[in-house]
Amino acid sequence: MHDRPADVLNVSTQSLLGLLDAAHEPILVRDLEGRILFWNQGCEALYGHSREVAHHAKAPELLATVFPAPLEEITARLVAEGQWRGEVTRRLADGREAVIDLRWSLRRDAAGGAAQVLETGRDVTAARKAEEALRRSEYRFRNVFHAMSVSFWELDFSALAGMFGALRAKGVTSLRAHIAENPGFVREMMQASQVVDVNEKSLQLFEATREQLIGPVDRFWPPSSEHVFAASVIAALEKKPHYESEARFRTYDGREFDGLFTCCYPREYLPQGATLVGVIDITDRLRAQEDLQRVQAELAHAARISTLGELTASIAHEVNQPLSAIVTNGEAGLRWLRRETPDLEEVRQAFDRMIGEANRASGVIGRIRTMAVKGEPETDRLALAPLVEDAVLLVRRELTTHGVALRVQVPADLPEVEGDRVQLQQVLVNLMVNAVQAMAEVDERVLTVRGEVESKGEGEDDTVVLAVSDTGPGVAPERASQLFNAFYTTKSDGMGMGLSICKTIAQAHGGEIVVTSWPGEGATFRLELPRAGDPQGDD
Ligand code: ADP
Repeated sequence: MHDRPADVLNVSTQSLLGLLDAAHEPILVRDLEGRILFWNQGCEALYGHSREVAHHAKAPELLATVFPAPLEEITARLVAEGQWRGEVTRRLADGREAVIDLRWSLRRDAAGGAAQVLETGRDVTAARKAEEALRRSEYRFRNVFHAMSVSFWELDFSALAGMFGALRAKGVTSLRAHIAENPGFVREMMQASQVVDVNEKSLQLFEATREQLIGPVDRFWPPSSEHVFAASVIAALEKKPHYESEARFRTYDGREFDGLFTCCYPREYLPQGATLVGVIDITDRLRAQEDLQRVQAELAHAARISTLGELTASIAHEVNQPLSAIVTNGEAGLRWLRRETPDLEEVRQAFDRMIGEANRASGVIGRIRTMAVKGEPETDRLALAPLVEDAVLLVRRELTTHGVALRVQVPADLPEVEGDRVQLQQVLVNLMVNAVQAMAEVDERVLTVRGEVESKGEGEDDTVVLAVSDTGPGVAPERASQLFNAFYTTKSDGMGMGLSICKTIAQAHGGEIVVTSWPGEGATFRLELPRAGDPQGDD
């Protein structure tokens, strides 16, 4: 006969029950019909039912237990194997549901028949909930990872730790400084960084299969983007939560494209050297931006030459008439000359008419030129610093697209001038656009607008000068005076009216415009205007 536990421990059954009762573990003993025979404090604490309620109640009903398999099957297993373990759902006294990890052991009677079941339970509700939440978030993450129209990469950076360790051992304290001295180190870091997983969008964007993308990341980073990669690693080391930048990327087949690169460093990932990277194709966006810039530049240009466009039409119309008259008179003159006895009087008259028509044509040009500056200028007192600022706004796009650096040195206290704001701005815009165009072929492109006063001595008004300088090829001295002639241009699409109009405007303001240039050192166009007289009283 087997020893009873109480005999082994040498304690009475009563005190053994007392011990079991005090245990924190929920311990329940029931007969095979489910009637509860023993219900300890652990059970009370877990299920919320007092011992009085529990005793002789039937366990499955009291606890509304939901088993993972039909109860008969479980009981059969219990009887066959003497024990069973599984997770069930039970209802607590307060109505809540709990997930309980159960262990059942079968006690047999003296004859070896099944008699009672000893049950211990453990509340695993919180653990299961957390697991479920994790599973869901993992699922959501996977869904997002694979379904988003952003190319996502999971990268393994763990090899970099060893490289940084080696650097520290050599006394390197700043990665930034090390990279500045050894640019090749960035490529080494790229080669050591591995692509672990990618989403569907990445396959499209990088034009490759998943297998082709897995591996060293350096294949997708052209040299022009090394600084971005370096900055993202430095951001991670500096414990920044994320990093974002535009960068060039390379597809599996070597085609380059513009992307927006986002890298985030979740705290949980970093210790394992893992990180998540997103790449969005911004080729279209950049193209749209460039188109916009180009259109704006064209608009500024169009605004500048629209007056000239109108002019061309009227010039063509107005000048055509005298020109055909000249031709007709020339032909008539020739006919009089070719007679057997030339009629010199008729020839003289034809010549007179030709001169008259030619003068008319030149008069038309003169009138048109004045028309281009819209007649009499308005006269306001003008501060030049804001005037220059406004003109710069108009050409800013043009400067950016052509990579021209701008320096404006116009003192705020430069004396005022009197004149027409729009016309003077037109002069500045013309000079700046000419300067930008002149610098198209040179590497160093700097446009300087300087403002200064020149004293002309006793009795003479001071002159205020706005000088526009460029670093272009300059102007040969023998051409300097021609530039201001109407229709003088060296550009295939030029009108040759810009400087001519500038000169007319300058002169209408009682000023002048001149060019100074040293070959190879760029050109400076000086707009010289008389300083405005002192304001008269309060009127
Ligand atoms: P357009 O710009 O249509 O040619 P402009 O009257 O504005 O007409 O200029 C006339 C010519 O003067 C230009 O074709 C160019 O040869 C010359 N020019 C103007 N600005 C500059 C400059 N900053 N540097 C060198 N040459 C210039």
